[in-house]
Amino acid sequence: MSTKNASPMKYIVIMTLLIAVLLAAIVMLNNKAKPKDEALESHPSTENQPTIGEEDAPVSIVEFGDFKCPACKAWGEQIYPKVKGEFIDTGKANLTYVNVLFHGEESILAAQAAESVFKHDPDSYWEFQKELYKEQPEGGNHEAAWVTVDKLVEVAEKTTDVDIEQLKKDVEGEAAKDQLNIDTNLVEKFSVEQTPTIIINGTKLEDPYDYERIRSIIEEGQK
Ligand code: CA
Repeated sequence: MSTKNASPMKYIVIMTLLIAVLLAAIVMLNNKAKPKDEALESHPSTENQPTIGEEDAPVSIVEFGDFKCPACKAWGEQIYPKVKGEFIDTGKANLTYVNVLFHGEESILAAQAAESVFKHDPDSYWEFQKELYKEQPEGGNHEAAWVTVDKLVEVAEKTTDVDIEQLKKDVEGEAAKDQLNIDTNLVEKFSVEQTPTIIINGTKLEDPYDYERIRSIIEEGQK
């Protein structure tokens, strides 16, 4: 083989390698930039779940939340008001809340109270829910106990017309058991491992705080 022939061959090999490296770099950069949202096979059922917004809105957002979770409180304060103003109040989307019981007895108590309010005074549900999240202690030790029957009664008295004796009975008893089983089944079916988990029209968000991403999925759902 003469050097004359070898040179272009070498050149081709080097160029091919360079192009391969460049392509790999582009793919890597792309993967980094794009959130790894998960396209699910189906969207969670919102039947018999508290839903805010128009029932026939083209986009359904499902929030899996736990009253004991600080990240859920943060989502409710930072992202929810924007979603509500831009998409729920305008009829473009509705939002459904599903209870997650990752933090033990207090999660269960809070969820039982919320289910009781939803059953007996559904119009007050969202106000109760938001007010209850507000009671979660700011920063510091979020594991500190704060969900008590007295606290739930206090929040219900402030935000709902439910009969307080009924509420107490529901919170201390098992009235919400079936509803909480439905929620827990959804948590398992949709592999919810962290809270909040946000699913929009069958897409599970990798980053529930990425408002631009939320906006683009909701806009996509209007078509
Ligand atoms: Ca529920």
